[in-house]
Amino acid sequence: MPLVEWDEIRPLLVCPRCRADLETGPGGLHCTDSACAHHSPAAFPLVDHRPVLVDFERSVVTRDSVTPFAGRADARQGADRLPVPLRHLVKPPNRVAARNLDLLLRALPGPAPRLLVVGGATVGNGVGALYRNPDVRVIGFDIVTSPVTQFVADAHRIPLRSASVDAVLVQAVLEHVLDPASVVAEIHRVLKDGGLVYAETPFLQQVHAGAHDFTRYTASGHRYLFRRFEEIASGPVAGPGTQLLWSVDHLVRGLTGNALAGRVARTGLFWLRGLDRLVAPDFALDGASALFFLGSRREREMSPGEIIGYYRGAQSAR
Ligand SMILES: [Zn+2]
Repeated sequence: MPLVEWDEIRPLLVCPRCRADLETGPGGLHCTDSACAHHSPAAFPLVDHRPVLVDFERSVVTRDSVTPFAGRADARQGADRLPVPLRHLVKPPNRVAARNLDLLLRALPGPAPRLLVVGGATVGNGVGALYRNPDVRVIGFDIVTSPVTQFVADAHRIPLRSASVDAVLVQAVLEHVLDPASVVAEIHRVLKDGGLVYAETPFLQQVHAGAHDFTRYTASGHRYLFRRFEEIASGPVAGPGTQLLWSVDHLVRGLTGNALAGRVARTGLFWLRGLDRLVAPDFALDGASALFFLGSRREREMSPGEIIGYYRGAQSAR
């Protein structure tokens, strides 16, 4: 697995509050700036040998929520717990992500580009190839510890130096952060000039992480979120058929008060997902379950006029 070794990551780490250098002391890391609140010894403790680089006073992450992964219950949720054939009915492999990741990997500058996975505690659907590619050096972080991440952090304050990575993957994460624009600004900051970002974000999906689910985006809204990026590709990850499956699931949950009943209904109607392929691309954009954006970092910001001209859905003025 091409996860970057600690010795390579350590020089890239900075204080999440003031972005000063970090120093290693007994029990963990701390900020080198004596004026910073995180200057005290072990301000950033270790959990599972991973530094917890969170500014807790300014984060929804709490100290108690960062626990060793060995002591946690099975972190897999819903469909991920099912045996493979059934899991693929409920949650099929994400071929759109696989194709776009391939596009991203081929566009990355060599040799050995560094790719940051934001919210990477679990390997995302369709991006497994990334973790098997010996040419890419993967850095991952999340708000919990995991065997596929090297530190714990809050994406609103990424504890990495500016221009330290060649690419960023942020899949099914931006709906779970309080301020997506701040997170995208951080992604822009840590990327090298011309660096690439791949994002997948829900448009029409019900709440799926309880208190940690905040935002949805239309295609235009998602594009404008990445307004300081040049678009390489964008479109639906899944269309209106998948959206209908989500709605049936949550309607049945609502009628029965039972999440399992909803999942059973969704599994029985799996064929509705096939309708995605029959929907015209412009209608698919207006009714997508989730959307993707692949782009390269630039300084120039998209103007309000440009975003109005950007719309490619089925309601364009003809
Ligand atoms: Zn500091």
